[in-house]
This record gives sequence, structure tokens and C-alpha cells, in this order.
Amino acid sequence: MRTIELNKRQEQIVQIVKEQGPITGEQIAEQLNLTRATLRPDLAILTMAGFLDARPRVGYFYTGKSSNQLLSDHINKLLVKDHQSIPVVVNENVSVYDAITAMFLEDVGTLFVVNDKSILTGVLSRKDLLRASIGKQDLNQLPVHIIMTRMPNITWCEKEDTLRDVAYRLIERQIDALPVVKKTENGFEVIGRITKTNITKAFVTLSRDDDR
Ligand code: ADP
Repeated sequence: MRTIELNKRQEQIVQIVKEQGPITGEQIAEQLNLTRATLRPDLAILTMAGFLDARPRVGYFYTGKSSNQLLSDHINKLLVKDHQSIPVVVNENVSVYDAITAMFLEDVGTLFVVNDKSILTGVLSRKDLLRASIGKQDLNQLPVHIIMTRMPNITWCEKEDTLRDVAYRLIERQIDALPVVKKTENGFEVIGRITKTNITKAFVTLSRDDDR
């Protein structure tokens, strides 16, 4: 994926293909007074980046896509399944005290709550646990299902969803994480976790891809 400026020769190639495509690599090379071999890396870059399309025995076409379009094409191909983390789940009957311990031990900001059949029933955030902690209740006696955000009010996603969709839901609902679920006849099984951190990491990967 390429969004950085094209070099002068690459600009020239794009211009030639725009005006004369379909055109062979040989013909482009001739016009630029270069050998086909010299041109090969540039043609490969322009094709990989999506500016040009190559068809065997026909030649190069201009795709007509701007850098911005190519970048959004690329972003829209980022899928949950390639960026998700392992979910941390607790049973709905564990105490708030144990949930706090799990959050520290597992070093996550969101816990997913499941019933005895491992089906998603709720979500616990840091603030949910803080809120419960400043009350008068005994945290060892208070089960998490009393304080959690519960189904059907959970925002979730599936592994084939795009990161863009997930980012949209995180912003819209003002939350930090979504469970990645698999639908079963009993309800949702939790198979992953996707957070703002995963999306930030994907963002960094995108900018690294540019340097290739
Ligand atoms: P924090 O409360 O630590 O800032 P969040 O912003 O993620 O963390 O959570 C805000 C509220 O939204 C909490 O009450 C939490 O239970 C709830 N929440 C968090 N994630 C989800 C989710 N995926 N679906 C529904 N509610 C959620």
C-alpha cells in the first residue's frame, strides 16, 4: 500500500499509461529511453499500490484511483480476525473482588462475563468496578452480574467484520472494547477481544506499509 509521493519517473509512467493505456512495459520503456529491466521495479510498485493494473499479453491500464481511494480501499480490508486479542472472561457469579483481581492479573481494561455455558451475558469496565468499590457493599459478597452491563445491551462484533466498523461502534457507544463473538444456538460465545489498542496498532502498521 502506498500513499506517499510517487517519484518523478513513476509520475511519468502513470501519465503515459493514463494517456495511452493499455500499453506494454516495452512501449513505456521506449518512450522513457530506458530498458524494460530498469523500469520493472517502478511498474511493480505502481501495480502493487493499485495505480496501475497489469493484464498479461495486453499491457498496463490506469485504474483511475487516487491515493486517498487506495488508502481507504486498504483500510476497509482490515479485518477483526487479523487484529483481535485473546478475551479475558469471568463467570457471572464471581465476586467484584475477584473480577478486580482478574483485571489486574490479566492486564486488561475490560472483562467479558459469561454464564455456566460460556455464553456472553455481560461486560465489566474499569469504571464499573470502581463504582462498585466506592459503595458500602462487601466486594467479596457482591457478584459481578449485579453491576455489569448486560445483554442485550452489549455491543459486539464478529471476526469477519472490518476494523473500520469496530472503530465506528467504539466511538458511537463511547466504549473501549468489543467482544468478538461466534453465534451458537445458545447465544454468543466469546472468541476474542478488540480494543482501541488493537486499532491503534493497526494504524501504526498502515504507516509502516507505506515505507515498503
Ligand atoms: P471505562 O468505564 O473504564 O471508561 P468503557 O468506556 O469501555 O470503560 O465503559 C463504559 C461503560 O460502557 C461501562 O459501564 C461498561 O460496562 C460499558 N461497556 C463497555 N464495553 C461495552 C460493550 N462492548 N457493550 C456494551 N457496553 C459496554
